Amino acid sequence: PPVIGVLALQGDVREHLIALASADAVARPVRRPEELAEVDALVIPGGESTTMSKLAVLFGMLEPLRERVRAGMPVYGTCAGMIMLADKILDGREDQETLGGVDMIVRRNAFGRQNESFEAKIDFAGIDGGPVEGVFIRAPWVESVGASAEVLAEYEGHVVAVRQGNVLATSFHPELTGDERVHAYFVDMVRASA
Ligand code: GLN
Repeated sequence: PPVIGVLALQGDVREHLIALASADAVARPVRRPEELAEVDALVIPGGESTTMSKLAVLFGMLEPLRERVRAGMPVYGTCAGMIMLADKILDGREDQETLGGVDMIVRRNAFGRQNESFEAKIDFAGIDGGPVEGVFIRAPWVESVGASAEVLAEYEGHVVAVRQGNVLATSFHPELTGDERVHAYFVDMVRASA
């Protein structure tokens, strides 16, 4: 089975490790460049993207991560992870870095404050068996996508799931629902790219 890392600088790492394991991947936390070098693919969890960006710089991970993404490593970002994978962000901190990878503009905290968090059923292109449960926590949305990015899901007119080549991003958190179909979709992407 593919070895998939979860970027463990900050955020809901444990939930992703569990979801990946139930989707038949070998999952392990990744904090250092040496650990990044040993995985086939990477998940970037939800959390707080400004903190994650700062820690990536501090741990010397920013450039190694950018290089792997540029080289085609499959990567999946949820919420803060989606923000990390955007080529451009709106309402970010001034010094906030992203890895890029998807030709999209992502607006941070677009769905409102923490107490406006919600769950919704999301139709997801390429995933069978009915809509997936989307958990949105101070979630971003995708304000616009470039021609090379494919929209996989929308909620109330806003793009909430995108794929560009080997890079997948969702505004919501499938790792919090016990429904591992989105993780299984990503594991299939990883297998297909091997
Ligand atoms: N609002 C957070 C950010 O900007 C993301 C929230 C989340 O990952 N649940 O990073």
